[in-house]
Amino acid sequence: MSEVPYFVSHEEALSILRQHPLPLRTEILELDNLYNRVLAEDLQSTVDDPRFDNSAMDGFAFRYEDSIKPPTILSIKQTLQAGTDKHPTYIDTGQATRIMTGAPIPDGANAVLPIERCTISDDGTEVTLHEIGKKHFIRKQGENLKNGQTALTKGTLLTPSSIGLCATMGHASVKVFSKATIGILPTGDELQLPGEKLSDNSIYESNSFGLASLVKMNGHNPIRYNSVSDSIDVLRQKLDIAASECDFILTSGGVSMGEWDLVRKLMEEEGDIKFWRVKIRPGSPPLFGYWKGTPLFGLPGNPASSHVVFRMLVAPYLRASASGGGVKEKRVRVQLAEPFKTSPTDLILRRIVIDTSGENLVAYSTGYQGSGNLNSLVLADGLTLLEPGHTGEKGTWCDALLL
Ligand code: AMP
Ligand code: MG
Repeated sequence: MSEVPYFVSHEEALSILRQHPLPLRTEILELDNLYNRVLAEDLQSTVDDPRFDNSAMDGFAFRYEDSIKPPTILSIKQTLQAGTDKHPTYIDTGQATRIMTGAPIPDGANAVLPIERCTISDDGTEVTLHEIGKKHFIRKQGENLKNGQTALTKGTLLTPSSIGLCATMGHASVKVFSKATIGILPTGDELQLPGEKLSDNSIYESNSFGLASLVKMNGHNPIRYNSVSDSIDVLRQKLDIAASECDFILTSGGVSMGEWDLVRKLMEEEGDIKFWRVKIRPGSPPLFGYWKGTPLFGLPGNPASSHVVFRMLVAPYLRASASGGGVKEKRVRVQLAEPFKTSPTDLILRRIVIDTSGENLVAYSTGYQGSGNLNSLVLADGLTLLEPGHTGEKGTWCDALLL
């Protein structure tokens, strides 16, 4: 083990992971199928957005200068609605166009007043403006996006708003990464499937279900295997099967220093470990390497730890493999409402509730932070990113990762 990076910082682990990206294939998908997929190209707009100056309100368009001493009476030249096939007629001084939201602003006009601040004469030929016209009710051509501008970058996880933007930009289909098949292999003699009658000293296996959901959340495809007993031969055989069926393997359990920590033992003897143990708490035991050419993360067995390690290492690994490092998770800055235990060497990832009721975002612990306590993770809005050496004193600030 001497040459394997051991007990590395979070940053060092991420840097090693970036040197071993997961190879990903690509495919072209139509807009209807993009939800939660990972974009595999930088996407440029094929149009200006808005395409032309248009009205943000139902009302009247006219020359601003005509409206500066309300009330102002203007003659109505034309009515324009969104998608009109009429050519907008030029607006001269003393004139107005009745206009609907999204309709093109006629040449000559440079302000809009919403209909509720106007009165139309009984014969419909004149409008009285009761206020000064508003220039900001004109949406200017290209103010959101210019033709050719890159608005979405490779590696972006496609959300409802970004899928809408693909359409706004004129793309009927886009290139995405094909879902990687990610095998999840829980290990431990004590594990039984939920629903089974538990034998003495057994517990329900939970990690594979949580991890499979995290894989889906990140736009990939999990294969969940039933748990493997603590036997080197069985483990070797199951890893071989997983390696033949999957692009990437996640194991849980068996990566610590104990006599029964067989994932670590087998990877040491027959695998290719790139790092083992990371200076994060919870979740210090993980290892990363290759099992016969297939990338493998050995995640800790404790349920809260395996989840946290996925968020801190596996998700960034998948994102970096897709984006080359450009796409990051969202963070917020929080103030500690109570003292948090910190470490001179480790990044501390406490499960927190974020109180948004005051001026600042304030972080409270979700309570007992045992690494087996999944309930404290369910209650959490985020994880603190308390850097090594942070005092953790009440009232101090740190970044937090939103869950
Ligand atoms: P290990 O890392 O294998 O020593 O496991 C650490 C702790 O996590 C032990 O208490 C295990 O029983 C528990 N554990 C391991 N794997 C799982 C799992 N898949 N689901 C729930 N608990 C687990
Ligand atoms: Mg175990």
